[in-house]
Amino acid sequence: MIVSGPSGAGKDTLIEKLRELEPDMAYGVSVTTRTRRDYEVDGVHYRFTTRDAFQLMATGGEFVETREYAGNFYGTPRRLVDEALAQGRDLILKPEVNGARAIKSLYSEAVLVFLMAPSSRELLRRLEERHADTPGDIDRRLSIAREEEEALSQFDYRIVNDALPAALQDLRAILAAERLRVSRLPAARDAGAAARVQQ
Ligand code: 5GP
Repeated sequence: MIVSGPSGAGKDTLIEKLRELEPDMAYGVSVTTRTRRDYEVDGVHYRFTTRDAFQLMATGGEFVETREYAGNFYGTPRRLVDEALAQGRDLILKPEVNGARAIKSLYSEAVLVFLMAPSSRELLRRLEERHADTPGDIDRRLSIAREEEEALSQFDYRIVNDALPAALQDLRAILAAERLRVSRLPAARDAGAAARVQQ
Protein backbone atom coordinates (compact mmCIF):
# COMPACT_ATOMS: atom_id res chain seq x y z
CA MET A 1 0.00 0.00 0.00
CA ILE A 2 1.31 3.40 -0.97
CA VAL A 3 0.31 6.42 1.08
CA SER A 4 1.25 9.49 -0.93
CA GLY A 5 0.19 13.11 -1.10
CA PRO A 6 1.66 16.48 -0.17
CA SER A 7 4.33 16.94 2.46
CA GLY A 8 2.53 18.08 5.62
CA ALA A 9 -0.67 16.10 4.93
CA GLY A 10 0.24 13.80 7.80
CA LYS A 11 1.59 10.66 6.10
CA ASP A 12 4.21 9.93 8.76
CA THR A 13 1.87 10.13 11.75
CA LEU A 14 -0.83 8.13 10.02
CA ILE A 15 1.58 5.39 8.98
CA GLU A 16 3.09 5.29 12.46
CA LYS A 17 -0.38 4.69 13.95
CA LEU A 18 -1.22 2.09 11.33
CA ARG A 19 1.98 0.20 12.07
CA GLU A 20 1.12 0.05 15.78
CA LEU A 21 -2.18 -1.59 14.87
CA GLU A 22 -0.80 -3.75 12.04
CA PRO A 23 2.58 -4.95 13.32
CA ASP A 24 2.86 -7.62 10.62
CA MET A 25 3.00 -5.09 7.82
CA ALA A 26 6.41 -4.43 6.34
CA TYR A 27 7.44 -0.80 6.21
CA GLY A 28 9.77 0.61 3.59
CA VAL A 29 12.41 2.90 5.05
CA SER A 30 13.52 5.15 2.18
CA VAL A 31 16.99 6.48 1.55
CA THR A 32 17.46 10.25 1.39
CA THR A 33 20.15 12.88 1.04
CA ARG A 34 18.10 15.35 3.11
CA THR A 35 19.56 16.59 6.40
CA ARG A 36 18.20 14.64 9.36
CA ARG A 37 15.64 16.50 11.49
CA ASP A 38 16.18 16.50 15.26
CA TYR A 39 13.43 13.99 15.99
CA GLU A 40 14.45 11.60 13.21
CA VAL A 41 16.44 8.42 13.77
CA ASP A 42 18.70 7.06 11.04
CA GLY A 43 17.41 3.68 9.89
CA VAL A 44 13.96 4.28 11.40
CA HIS A 45 12.57 7.34 9.60
CA TYR A 46 15.02 7.24 6.70
CA ARG A 47 18.45 5.96 5.88
CA PHE A 48 20.33 9.25 5.58
CA THR A 49 23.19 9.33 3.15
CA THR A 50 25.36 11.62 1.03
CA ARG A 51 24.58 12.59 -2.55
CA ASP A 52 27.60 10.61 -3.79
CA ALA A 53 26.58 7.45 -1.95
CA PHE A 54 23.01 7.88 -3.18
CA GLN A 55 24.20 8.17 -6.80
CA LEU A 56 26.29 5.03 -6.41
CA MET A 57 23.30 3.12 -5.07
CA ALA A 58 21.14 4.44 -7.91
CA THR A 59 23.59 3.43 -10.62
CA GLY A 60 23.95 0.04 -8.91
CA GLY A 61 20.20 -0.52 -9.45
CA GLU A 62 19.43 -0.51 -5.73
CA PHE A 63 16.25 1.56 -6.06
CA VAL A 64 12.81 0.83 -7.44
CA GLU A 65 12.39 4.55 -8.02
CA THR A 66 14.17 7.77 -7.10
CA ARG A 67 13.05 11.40 -7.02
CA GLU A 68 14.53 14.79 -6.47
CA TYR A 69 12.19 16.66 -4.16
CA ALA A 70 12.82 20.22 -2.92
CA GLY A 71 16.54 19.87 -3.68
CA ASN A 72 17.11 16.47 -2.05
CA PHE A 73 17.10 12.92 -3.36
CA TYR A 74 14.78 10.17 -2.11
CA GLY A 75 14.69 6.53 -3.16
CA THR A 76 12.74 3.36 -2.43
CA PRO A 77 15.15 0.44 -1.89
CA ARG A 78 14.48 -2.48 -4.23
CA ARG A 79 15.44 -5.02 -1.55
CA LEU A 80 12.54 -3.94 0.68
CA VAL A 81 9.96 -4.44 -2.05
CA ASP A 82 11.44 -7.76 -3.18
CA GLU A 83 11.57 -9.12 0.38
CA ALA A 84 7.99 -8.12 1.20
CA LEU A 85 6.72 -9.66 -2.05
CA ALA A 86 8.68 -12.87 -1.46
CA GLN A 87 7.27 -13.16 2.07
CA GLY A 88 3.73 -12.32 0.91
CA ARG A 89 3.61 -9.45 3.41
CA ASP A 90 1.74 -6.20 2.96
CA LEU A 91 4.22 -3.39 2.46
CA ILE A 92 3.58 0.24 3.23
CA LEU A 93 5.50 3.00 1.47
CA LYS A 94 5.15 6.78 1.53
CA PRO A 95 6.71 8.28 -1.59
CA GLU A 96 5.67 11.62 -3.05
CA VAL A 97 3.22 11.51 -5.94
CA ASN A 98 5.62 10.83 -8.83
CA GLY A 99 7.26 8.02 -6.89
CA ALA A 100 3.82 6.54 -6.20
CA ARG A 101 3.02 6.57 -9.92
CA ALA A 102 6.39 5.03 -10.78
CA ILE A 103 5.83 2.18 -8.31
CA LYS A 104 2.32 1.54 -9.66
CA SER A 105 3.66 1.26 -13.20
CA LEU A 106 6.07 -1.45 -12.01
CA TYR A 107 3.74 -3.23 -9.59
CA SER A 108 0.19 -3.01 -10.86
CA GLU A 109 -1.12 -4.59 -7.65
CA ALA A 110 0.07 -1.57 -5.64
CA VAL A 111 -2.79 0.34 -4.01
CA LEU A 112 -2.41 4.12 -4.22
CA VAL A 113 -3.87 6.22 -1.43
CA PHE A 114 -3.76 10.00 -1.69
CA LEU A 115 -3.67 11.69 1.69
CA MET A 116 -4.50 15.38 1.75
CA ALA A 117 -4.97 18.11 4.32
CA PRO A 118 -8.50 19.60 4.53
CA SER A 119 -7.32 22.93 3.07
CA SER A 120 -4.17 24.68 1.85
CA ARG A 121 -4.32 26.95 4.89
CA GLU A 122 -4.25 23.90 7.16
CA LEU A 123 -1.39 22.39 5.11
CA LEU A 124 0.63 25.58 5.66
CA ARG A 125 -0.18 25.51 9.38
CA ARG A 126 1.04 21.91 9.67
CA LEU A 127 4.24 22.60 7.77
CA GLU A 128 4.97 25.61 9.98
CA GLU A 129 4.04 23.78 13.17
CA ARG A 130 6.60 21.03 12.74
CA HIS A 131 9.42 23.62 12.73
CA ALA A 132 11.41 21.35 10.42
CA ASP A 133 11.82 23.46 7.30
CA THR A 134 13.01 26.96 6.46
CA PRO A 135 10.40 29.44 5.08
CA GLY A 136 11.91 28.88 1.61
CA ASP A 137 11.48 25.12 1.98
CA ILE A 138 7.89 25.56 3.10
CA ASP A 139 7.13 27.68 0.01
CA ARG A 140 8.64 25.00 -2.20
CA ARG A 141 6.65 22.26 -0.47
CA LEU A 142 3.42 24.25 -0.89
CA SER A 143 3.96 24.80 -4.59
CA ILE A 144 4.83 21.09 -5.07
CA ALA A 145 1.61 20.27 -3.13
CA ARG A 146 -0.47 22.23 -5.65
CA GLU A 147 1.04 20.23 -8.52
CA GLU A 148 0.61 16.97 -6.63
CA GLU A 149 -3.13 17.49 -6.17
CA GLU A 150 -3.53 17.45 -9.94
CA ALA A 151 -2.49 13.78 -9.90
CA LEU A 152 -5.38 12.75 -7.65
CA SER A 153 -7.35 11.09 -10.47
CA GLN A 154 -4.54 8.54 -10.92
CA PHE A 155 -4.98 7.28 -7.37
CA ASP A 156 -7.24 4.49 -6.14
CA TYR A 157 -8.40 6.17 -2.93
CA ARG A 158 -8.38 9.60 -1.32
CA ILE A 159 -8.37 10.33 2.40
CA VAL A 160 -8.85 13.86 3.76
CA ASN A 161 -6.82 14.01 6.93
CA ASP A 162 -8.91 16.35 9.03
CA ALA A 163 -8.62 14.36 12.25
CA LEU A 164 -6.22 11.47 12.78
CA PRO A 165 -8.66 8.86 14.20
CA ALA A 166 -11.01 9.22 11.22
CA ALA A 167 -8.14 9.12 8.71
CA LEU A 168 -6.78 6.01 10.42
CA GLN A 169 -10.19 4.37 10.28
CA ASP A 170 -10.40 5.15 6.54
CA LEU A 171 -6.94 3.72 5.89
CA ARG A 172 -7.74 0.53 7.80
CA ALA A 173 -10.99 0.17 5.88
CA ILE A 174 -9.06 0.34 2.61
CA LEU A 175 -6.57 -2.21 3.88
CA ALA A 176 -9.35 -4.55 4.99
CA ALA A 177 -11.14 -4.29 1.64
CA GLU A 178 -7.96 -4.80 -0.34
CA ARG A 179 -7.12 -7.92 1.66
CA LEU A 180 -10.48 -9.39 0.66
CA ARG A 181 -9.90 -8.98 -3.07
CA VAL A 182 -10.22 -12.27 -4.92
CA SER A 183 -7.09 -11.37 -6.90
CA ARG A 184 -5.16 -11.29 -3.60
CA LEU A 185 -6.05 -14.81 -2.55
CA PRO A 186 -2.85 -16.88 -2.29
CA ALA A 187 -3.55 -18.92 -5.46
CA ALA A 188 -4.12 -15.78 -7.52
CA ARG A 189 -0.99 -14.18 -6.07
CA ASP A 190 1.15 -17.19 -6.97
CA ALA A 191 -0.22 -17.12 -10.51
CA GLY A 192 0.67 -13.40 -10.75
CA ALA A 193 4.22 -14.06 -9.55
CA ALA A 194 4.64 -16.91 -12.05
CA ALA A 195 3.41 -14.67 -14.88
CA ARG A 196 5.97 -12.03 -13.90
CA VAL A 197 8.80 -14.58 -13.98
CA GLN A 198 7.77 -15.70 -17.47
CA GLN A 199 7.77 -12.15 -18.88
P1 5GP B 1 10.34 14.84 3.78
O1 5GP B 1 11.56 15.64 3.43
O2 5GP B 1 9.21 15.73 4.23
O3 5GP B 1 10.61 13.70 4.70
O4 5GP B 1 9.85 14.17 2.41
C1 5GP B 1 9.60 14.93 1.27
C2 5GP B 1 8.71 14.14 0.34
O5 5GP B 1 9.43 13.01 -0.18
C3 5GP B 1 7.46 13.61 1.03
O6 5GP B 1 6.34 13.79 0.17
C4 5GP B 1 7.80 12.15 1.21
O7 5GP B 1 6.62 11.37 1.27
C5 5GP B 1 8.60 11.87 -0.04
N1 5GP B 1 9.41 10.65 0.03
C6 5GP B 1 9.92 10.01 1.10
N2 5GP B 1 10.61 8.91 0.74
C7 5GP B 1 10.49 8.82 -0.60
C8 5GP B 1 10.96 7.86 -1.58
O8 5GP B 1 11.62 6.86 -1.29
N3 5GP B 1 10.64 8.11 -2.87
C9 5GP B 1 9.91 9.20 -3.25
N4 5GP B 1 9.63 9.32 -4.54
N5 5GP B 1 9.46 10.12 -2.36
C10 5GP B 1 9.75 9.93 -1.06
